[in-house]
Amino acid sequence: MCVERWQKNKEVLESMATKLYNATVVGKITITPDLMIFRVDTDEAREEFEAGQNLLIGLYGFEKRSSNSEPELVPAEGDKLIQRPYSIASAKTETRQLEFYISQVKSGQLSSRLFNLDIGDRVYVGTKISGIFRLDETPDGSDIVMVATGTGIAPYISFLRSHIVERPESKMVVIQGAAHRWDLGYSSELTFLEKSFPNFFYLPTLTDADDRWDGYRLCIEDLLRKDILQNEFNITPDPERTHFFVSGQPEMVGRVSEWLHDFGYTRHHPDEPGELYIEEF
Ligand SMILES: Cc1cc2nc3c(=O)[nH]c(=O)nc-3n(C[C@H](O)[C@H](O)[C@H](O)COP(=O)(O)OP(=O)(O)OC[C@H]3O[C@@H](n4cnc5c(N)ncnc54)[C@H](O)[C@@H]3O)c2cc1C
Repeated sequence: MCVERWQKNKEVLESMATKLYNATVVGKITITPDLMIFRVDTDEAREEFEAGQNLLIGLYGFEKRSSNSEPELVPAEGDKLIQRPYSIASAKTETRQLEFYISQVKSGQLSSRLFNLDIGDRVYVGTKISGIFRLDETPDGSDIVMVATGTGIAPYISFLRSHIVERPESKMVVIQGAAHRWDLGYSSELTFLEKSFPNFFYLPTLTDADDRWDGYRLCIEDLLRKDILQNEFNITPDPERTHFFVSGQPEMVGRVSEWLHDFGYTRHHPDEPGELYIEEF
């Protein structure tokens, strides 16, 4: 009897809590067991955002975690909404159907719950869109180098979907580092863009490639040090001419930033404009 009442109370609490959910999952493309492209349709359109910005996604702690997750490092509380920021991969004009590129932190609270969702499930998507990792803050005509590991590629997909047509005078390069070929999310879209736009170049590089890979086999920092940007595309690490975006693992971000500091790059802040834009996650 007591167990039944407890179960009833739990159901009432959960149904009240999920009224906060304001979006429906409409797409889930699994790239690897721990990497997915995730699309939601929000009940209300969001404000127009700037390419590269992020917003919060949330689920309650009572939601189930994925079958391949590991015990939580910090167990979530059932009645609390867990919220984390995610970069939007959609074009800036797509204010209702939003796309994200998400990696599962197996011992994490939210990502392991997001990986358990299916098409049609409900989720909370924040209404405030923020972030200073924005292509629109770079001067027209400057060359743009976008460096990413892992899901750090997401904001660049938004940059390119939103702006590539408008900036024919800028050379734009994406350098995407990963361990294996199958970790290179969005590589078909980036390859297609390279074939379609003469000013866009895609440089994937793998640190643990198999025999069939005929591309670069360097970590990002070594690829930059070998002057491949200068030799192949005539792009120089010159803060007057080229703006750098660096997004992904903090260690890679730190090493690339250090290399750029030697050429006189300074980190961009809204009050103190610089030529180096950083997003760590
Ligand atoms: C501005 C911004 C944009 C972001 N955009 C994206 C995005 O587009 N895609 C995406 O997948 N993530 C993105 N993140 C990271 C995301 O917000 C979460 O931190 C991530 O999903 C882990 O959340 P969690 O609740 O599963 O793990 P948590 O429960 O918060 O963390 C559990 C443990 O894992 C560690 N941890 C947290 N994140 C990572 C990680 N990435 N790798 C290894 N260990 C980790 C934590 O330090 C902690 O010890 C972004 C973060 C920021 C700040």
